[in-house]
Amino acid sequence: MNREVRVRFAPSPTGPLHIGGVRTALYNYLFARRHGGKMILRIEDTDSQRFVPGAEEYIIESLKWCGIEIDEGVGVGGPHAPYRQSERREIYLKYAKQLVEAGWAYYAFDTPEELDTLRKEAEEAGKTFAYNYEVRQKLPTSLSLSAEDVEARIARGDQWVVRFKMPENEVVKMDDLIRGHVEVNTSTLDDKVLYKSADALPTYHLANIVDDHLMEVSHVIRGEEWLPSLPLHYLLYRAFGWTDTQPEFAHLPLLLKPTGSGKLSKRDGDKMGFPVFPLFWTSPTGETARGYREDGYLPEAFINMLSLLGWNPGNDEEIFSMQELIDLFSLERVSKSGARFQPDKAKWFNAQYMHKLSDEELAPIAQPIYKAHGVETTDELAGKAAGIMKERMTLTTDIWELTSFFFVAPTEYEEKLTKKQWKGDNPAMLAKLRGVLEGIDDFSKENTEAVVRAWIEAEGYALGQVMNTLRLALVGAGKGPGMFDVTEFIGKAECLKRIDNLMANVTPAE
Ligand code: GLU
Repeated sequence: MNREVRVRFAPSPTGPLHIGGVRTALYNYLFARRHGGKMILRIEDTDSQRFVPGAEEYIIESLKWCGIEIDEGVGVGGPHAPYRQSERREIYLKYAKQLVEAGWAYYAFDTPEELDTLRKEAEEAGKTFAYNYEVRQKLPTSLSLSAEDVEARIARGDQWVVRFKMPENEVVKMDDLIRGHVEVNTSTLDDKVLYKSADALPTYHLANIVDDHLMEVSHVIRGEEWLPSLPLHYLLYRAFGWTDTQPEFAHLPLLLKPTGSGKLSKRDGDKMGFPVFPLFWTSPTGETARGYREDGYLPEAFINMLSLLGWNPGNDEEIFSMQELIDLFSLERVSKSGARFQPDKAKWFNAQYMHKLSDEELAPIAQPIYKAHGVETTDELAGKAAGIMKERMTLTTDIWELTSFFFVAPTEYEEKLTKKQWKGDNPAMLAKLRGVLEGIDDFSKENTEAVVRAWIEAEGYALGQVMNTLRLALVGAGKGPGMFDVTEFIGKAECLKRIDNLMANVTPAE
């Protein structure tokens, strides 16, 4: 690549960032890092009607959680600041006028009523209405009005828009790094609005092209839904005379529903019980949507899962760190066809990452969960408790359910286990075991196990019988790790207390 790689993630703050958007940001980031380039975050907020307060903050927090770093942009600054389009509004009018002067665009003064009449006419004639070369002749525009008339209308404050004058019957030839060569005839396209006097703001198309040019963007990597805009974007580069530095384009495949048909939506997530947003979201009107973070996913697992929805490394490997993805990523390995989202696969990835965490890495994840349940403990013990049980965890939200007994003595006892164990000789046996445990000084797992096993053998008890009765006392249920992991963790005093609790509070069956 002979040009400095500069890519941008350019979301519109219209709500929470969909995971498809996160994937777009991720692929941009991987591409930038792979080629030693820059990753820009530009906020495209020129559509005031669709602006949602809080969405920008949500986008920034999501990228941070995912580990997608921004080199230039909103929240970071950089040589092309500001990076929020609403703060760049003075820039765009000049460019809109430049296009009008060069004959590539025109002022249009039509009212909604005038457009409606033409729309109805078209429908009656059995045609679909499009604001194009045929229609623009019939409306008050700078193409049909005299220059004086146009000036007078603008001067007296009539509302106007600038529209692109889409050429008639010309084939636009385009190249996409994923889709290859694409051709479109301009007669199928309409005259898009580029600028609106009503709010003195450009539309997406104008602002996007002007900013990509000014910010020296080398590659535009974005969702497939923008492919239909590509002919217009090509023509805008030509109209401005910027084709020499025009970026290369790559349109990413859609994220599909788990069934494989149609775009993945929030409704699919609600129906099947999985999030389609990275973080929990509360809208200004109080509606909420669940997020991967709050549902107990690790960002590394989430990113790994997303990376493979539309890209493949060329072999069967599935587990990749961010650095490995950076080293391997290429647009050539992005597929043309949509990528089916599989909620179970997302869980599988998370489980793989949970199982690999060290106690030190688990501690900061487990601590807030313990705190929320009123448990105060050291980081060391938090990490150790979660570490003993991590192999059985899928999500971080499993931590409490699987490890609470390390910190909280049972107050209830599982019925089935109680019926089976708390009868016959077992209460007397447990009383004796209590004495044995009380006599042990070195309460380490290994020593306790050796002492207790020797005692079981000498007494002639069945091992399972003893262990299950002890488990009933210490855990209250037939779950948990090996018994001596529990005894070591909770310590002698707590062991004796829990045995006493069972004996005092539960009457044996016979
Ligand atoms: N603002 C557009 C969006 O919300 C950006 C599209 C593009 O990357 O050109 O997706």
